[in-house]
Amino acid sequence: MRALEGQAALVTGASGGLGSAIAIGLARAGADVACHYGRDRAGVAQVVREIRGLGRRSIALRADVRSPRAVASLVQRVVTELGRLDILVNNAGVMDTTPFLDLSASDWDRVLDTNLKGYFLVGQAAARVMSARGYGRIVNVSSTRQEQAWPGNAAYASAKGGIWMLNRVMALELAAHGIRVNSIAPGTIETDMNTSYLSDPEFRRQRISTIPVGRLGEAKDIVAAVVLLASVEADFITGASLMIDGGQTIW
Ligand code: NAD
Repeated sequence: MRALEGQAALVTGASGGLGSAIAIGLARAGADVACHYGRDRAGVAQVVREIRGLGRRSIALRADVRSPRAVASLVQRVVTELGRLDILVNNAGVMDTTPFLDLSASDWDRVLDTNLKGYFLVGQAAARVMSARGYGRIVNVSSTRQEQAWPGNAAYASAKGGIWMLNRVMALELAAHGIRVNSIAPGTIETDMNTSYLSDPEFRRQRISTIPVGRLGEAKDIVAAVVLLASVEADFITGASLMIDGGQTIW
């Protein structure tokens, strides 16, 4: 029997990038997967097709993670359509590289509302469902930016730093409800989020030079850790944050 057989997962931001790789990885491990998306209907449809091709159930659900009402209805629809919710992967997020002196209040709100408040809203709605059954696994996709400062990342890194602590408090409060809460902190993984600056050869070369294993990450590099943290095998791990960065934060 596969690790996640018979379980149902929700992955936010699953239309591409890390989210789609995670959704497919959870399905390969046996889970049915609700794929949340923000805008990319074609992208999410492809992911849902691939998961169904693996013999698992899958649905696409659209919601703005910044809206409490939209999030409540998102989680309710997962339970209605898949019959249960065992695993949440909070992944939907936006990047921002505005220099601090130019950062507007609306840039700040957009990034913090999506990347931090969105994790709180989806995490709370999912945990309420999970606590009723006394079982749940939540994986928050953070970033090495949660503890490593880079120029132009004031809003993004503040949100990720917030996730680092949100993850710990959730783990503390939800342990008694049978819910384990952990995060992964990826380094530089090539996705739509960073193609614009990684396509600059000089920037790319310089970035790789900061990564001890000598390459950028790929979406598939983070999947095994998420599957492990989503499984019952990780029952004694909670409140942890795992760097997946080719050693970039060892420096
Ligand atoms: P991506 O841009 O491919 O995916 C982000 C997803 O979030 C998209 O599907 C987008 O539609 C969704 N989204 C954004 N705002 C939303 C909103 N308001 N409501 C609903 N959905 C919304 O980027 P990715 O690289 O796959 O990033 C996924 C996660 O991984 C993010 O949390 C990101 O911060 C984190 N991360 C990425 C890297 C990297 O190098 N790519 C590194 C560390 C952490």
